[in-house]
Amino acid sequence: MLTVDPTAHRPKKSLGQHFLKDRSVPPRIAQAAQLEPDDFVLEIGPGLGVLTEELAQRLDPQRGRLLAVELDNTLLPHLEDRFAPHPHVSFLHADVLDVDPATLTEGRPYKLVANLPYYITSAILRHFLETEARPTSMTVMVQREVAERMVARPPEMSLLAVAVQFYGQPKIVFRVPPGAFNPPPNVDSAVVHITVYQPGERPAVVASEAAFFKVAQAGFGQRRKQLANTLAASLNLPKEQVVAQLTHSGIDPTRRAQTLTLQEWATITTVLNPEE
Ligand code: SAM
Repeated sequence: MLTVDPTAHRPKKSLGQHFLKDRSVPPRIAQAAQLEPDDFVLEIGPGLGVLTEELAQRLDPQRGRLLAVELDNTLLPHLEDRFAPHPHVSFLHADVLDVDPATLTEGRPYKLVANLPYYITSAILRHFLETEARPTSMTVMVQREVAERMVARPPEMSLLAVAVQFYGQPKIVFRVPPGAFNPPPNVDSAVVHITVYQPGERPAVVASEAAFFKVAQAGFGQRRKQLANTLAASLNLPKEQVVAQLTHSGIDPTRRAQTLTLQEWATITTVLNPEE
């Protein structure tokens, strides 16, 4: 079998490779993920396998399963070699954004755990939240500033906060300094745990998710402007109509997008009823 000396691997910046070297961090991530022995865990970007090992240990080899998706094919031989004694752990060489979550997880409930490649954090969050086959929870290392945007509340909301909180409840579990990684990133990091809502638990109820996100995206287009102006311009609607509809629904048209709650975005979606 081809083996690779992991110490010889030169981290690739282009793939967001910052490997965890502080051995106290993987157990804390695994703890935050609240794994059960029979869970199906999906890991994104196992890298050299430090977090993978911690997750694998917490699963029952007979009943649990861990699938890890890695884009860097030079890491695959090392990973397959290292985890050969653990038949409940398997690897897939792929760009995680190219694979349908439903196919990856064979329709089974699963928990997503990852020290994410930061260059595609938002794309990965969207890929796994805006699908029918979303995980039951996500425990992810992200840039600290992104973590803070995910958990923000009005009047500090952002489109990312709306997108994440529509599907689940995010919580910052702990912060991680740059020195915990090799090489160290330029920014602080944080682990976020998202409890994904089951159908019927969501705080904002809408007829169409596409229309909801179209309206929120339009509203955040120019976040410093008043809501009526930015919605009218982005959705191509007469301003007087938007002012009248917002006022009628009890939403002050001079407010800024970042002050709105998810329920208020849902109300605006219903009254403006944009084409998807
Ligand atoms: N889990 C390891 C750790 O904690 O030490 C590595 C984390 S590193 C921040 C991110 C990992 O994601 C790298 O191994 C990188 O090669 C991988 N990666 C980057 N882009 C990817 C993609 N599109 N699909 C799957 N894996 C990717």
